[in-house]
Amino acid sequence: MNGEPIRRIVIVGGGTAGWMAAAALSRVLGGFPGLSIELVESEAIGTVGVGEATIPQILSFNNMLGIDENEFVRETHATYKLGIEFVDWLRPGHSYVHPFGTYGLDMLGIEFHHFWLRGRAAGDTSELDRYSIAAMAGKGGKFFWPQLDNPKSPLSKLSYAFQFDAARYARYLRKRAEAQGVVRREGKVVEVLQDGESGFVTGVRLEDGSDVEGQLFLDCTGFRSLLLGQTLGVPFRDWSKWLPCDRAVAMPCSLAGDREPLTRSTARPAGWQWRIPLQHRIGNGHVYSSAHMEADEALAILLDNLDGEPLAEPNHLRFVAGHRERAWEKNVVALGLAGGFLEPLESTAIHLVQACIARLLAFFPTSAFGRKEADRFNADTERDYVDIRDFLVLHYKATERDDSEFWRYCRELPPPDGLREKLEMFRATGRVIREHEELFTETSWLSVMAGQGVEPEGYHPVAAMLDEQETKQRLAHIGQVIAQAVDQMPTQDEFLARNRSAIPATERIVA
Ligand code: FAD
Repeated sequence: MNGEPIRRIVIVGGGTAGWMAAAALSRVLGGFPGLSIELVESEAIGTVGVGEATIPQILSFNNMLGIDENEFVRETHATYKLGIEFVDWLRPGHSYVHPFGTYGLDMLGIEFHHFWLRGRAAGDTSELDRYSIAAMAGKGGKFFWPQLDNPKSPLSKLSYAFQFDAARYARYLRKRAEAQGVVRREGKVVEVLQDGESGFVTGVRLEDGSDVEGQLFLDCTGFRSLLLGQTLGVPFRDWSKWLPCDRAVAMPCSLAGDREPLTRSTARPAGWQWRIPLQHRIGNGHVYSSAHMEADEALAILLDNLDGEPLAEPNHLRFVAGHRERAWEKNVVALGLAGGFLEPLESTAIHLVQACIARLLAFFPTSAFGRKEADRFNADTERDYVDIRDFLVLHYKATERDDSEFWRYCRELPPPDGLREKLEMFRATGRVIREHEELFTETSWLSVMAGQGVEPEGYHPVAAMLDEQETKQRLAHIGQVIAQAVDQMPTQDEFLARNRSAIPATERIVA
């Protein structure tokens, strides 16, 4: 053993990141003899309080925590999410869904979309959405669990995530973490204590003068990045050139309009607006570039486009796209906003917290804090950020919109290298490349490239083995099978009621 086991873990910050870490670490390491996990948070400072849409990977986090899904949905007032509907992103009046799961049916050993491309070349005009059960069920307000053990059913191609109330989620995790032995300390950190020689953090001093000492510190202090950024001085890598949106204004509203199991993102003149329907209310926000729009105009656009009545004062947030150069420095590991932030267009921030927790557990240090674990952790975390950045930039880069300075800037921006290569490959051959086990799969890249109007000049030669008529017939048949399966699915409301995960009607906020 290259060092004694770590016995004292201190988590600084009790937002989503802090409580996710507390719940996970206490679940996995809780039985370790003599281990203590303390979480320090300050009610006076509060949390960001947004962050309500997730991606399917959250299911494995919930499984790791041993969470009962129906209880989780009820307690966090969650709804199901089958994908994101992008409205007006290609051009005003156009929409498409980035669905969870896969499209159609692979044939002759190659991916389905090559047959779709062949069909289009032969005059078929069907949209890709038609071949995704998640997209079609989402638009139809339907939900059912995937049927992975029945590969012949379209339901085997479905995948899902949740949309939940951020405050309820943190409370839910807190309850679990405390039951698993995590000790919460209320108080504002006013000083970070360091070893004079090594610079390692030894403790944090609270406003009341007490110290919380530890060996491993998780910086979950949000945008402040109190330990990693402010104390250890790890520089921030600024990507605002590629992702110029740097402000958001959030505001929940009462229930009204559709409650499809989809997050909606609607393009606006200097950014985009999110709409996340929960069981009791709708979460809304407008993400925009301050170089292209003033805060009062952004708020006015948001207010003009709420389905229900506003339920809170506007919450104005500032951020810069990018990440800390090293998420793990000395004995500090940053999780969540303290480590970096990429705008919530594809709901990736909570996933990044989860991925870093899993990575920390995989490379969990001893008190010797060898470099190998930290170096690998940092390299993998940086790669996650780069992959997600490229995927986000795709949405802005590939668009026909040129109706504002913001959109003209985004269109004309040279893409990062990885994205340029993917775009060139897709345009030339219809192939979608995924370099490594990056977060977004071929389906995701395909849906956004096709949805954003990137037109391939070719398709896989094997797709030409089916003649045009056969191709069109098979496409029509697959579309029909999916439509029939969707018809038989319950509505999301029926599904929630059936599983006792619906909240009482009295808790629904209807104007
Ligand atoms: P915070 O919520 O800011 O928590 C920081 C904690 O640190 C608080 O408890 C605070 O009290 C504590 N703290 C700070 N300083 C001190 C101090 N000196 N002493 C003691 N305590 C201190 N993610 C998604 O996955 N999906 C989404 O749809 C999504 N939408 C988003 C929309 C916007 C506009 C933004 C900005 C973020 C969004 N996110 C989303 C990201 C998500 O909200 C965050 O990743 C998540 O909430 C994690 O935040 P956090 O815990 O890192 O920070």
